[in-house]
Amino acid sequence: MNDLKTIRIFLSTIFLVASLAWLFIGPDVNPLAIISVKSQIIPSTLAATIGATAFWLVATFVFGRLYCSTVCPVGSLQDLAIWSRRYLARLSRKNRSLTRPYQFVPPSRGRWTFLTLYAASLLLGVFSVAWILEPWRLLQSVAGLERHAAVADTWAHSGIFISLADGALIGCIISALILLVVILMALIRGRWFCNKICPIGTALGAITQYSLYHIEINPDKCINCMKCEDICPAQCVKVLSRHVDDSRCIRCFNCLKVCPNDAIRYQINHNRRRTPLMQRRKQFNT
Ligand code: SF4
Ligand code: SF4
Ligand code: SF4
Repeated sequence: MNDLKTIRIFLSTIFLVASLAWLFIGPDVNPLAIISVKSQIIPSTLAATIGATAFWLVATFVFGRLYCSTVCPVGSLQDLAIWSRRYLARLSRKNRSLTRPYQFVPPSRGRWTFLTLYAASLLLGVFSVAWILEPWRLLQSVAGLERHAAVADTWAHSGIFISLADGALIGCIISALILLVVILMALIRGRWFCNKICPIGTALGAITQYSLYHIEINPDKCINCMKCEDICPAQCVKVLSRHVDDSRCIRCFNCLKVCPNDAIRYQINHNRRRTPLMQRRKQFNT
């Protein structure tokens, strides 16, 4: 189980480097970098080559939000902020927002509002909303500050061409500021953007809550050390009630790595509850 975290970090590093190279240097950087674009959900859908989209729908149903832990560059940039948190905390020991461990927060209903807003904006042709809410386009728009062709790329599949001279510079700057906020929030609140705002994350989360493989706490082995809840960047583990909100779990596998008793696992089976009083009545009737 510990290897899962190592594998996912390896994959997310490759996809992040390829994505940034493609976006900020351009398609000529390396033919292999195109894998970063081909693996993205929205560009695949817009290009009408929905292979990647179909792949991720099936993969999410089986494994959960692996897209969010390996392929999405905005997710990986947030992870970099989350990892740098512990080093910044050493420099500033009195800063409680950096030193405080994560803890469970209830799911936000606002995420559904953002998903609805995003879907409505696409249907109505108000594509600028996508610059703000959808991670690949957000990053593509930021890349437009450095590589102006990226701005045109962002809009190419919408049939609209906008150059920086047409005023898209303001859009690029707004996107850059939003990305900065996302990264700063990641320092304090982990994958805050992923579970409160990102429409792709909300849509994938709706599938993940029914995924075959899920994160589960074994109540017979758990010793209440709280390490899994403290390290969960999605703030979706509640040790007290042995609950993991799978819709928000981004499959980072941090919790598996820190558990001292192998009590939290990524598995298909659902654990039975520990005390007979908490078991379902039908188990007594059979
Ligand atoms: S929730 Fe959105 S921003 Fe976060 S990793 Fe998933 S797709 Fe990327
Ligand atoms: S429960 Fe939290 S720590 Fe564990 S894999 Fe999911 S997001 Fe990561
Ligand atoms: S890290 Fe393991 S033992 Fe500790 S609270 Fe979490 S599941 Fe229980």
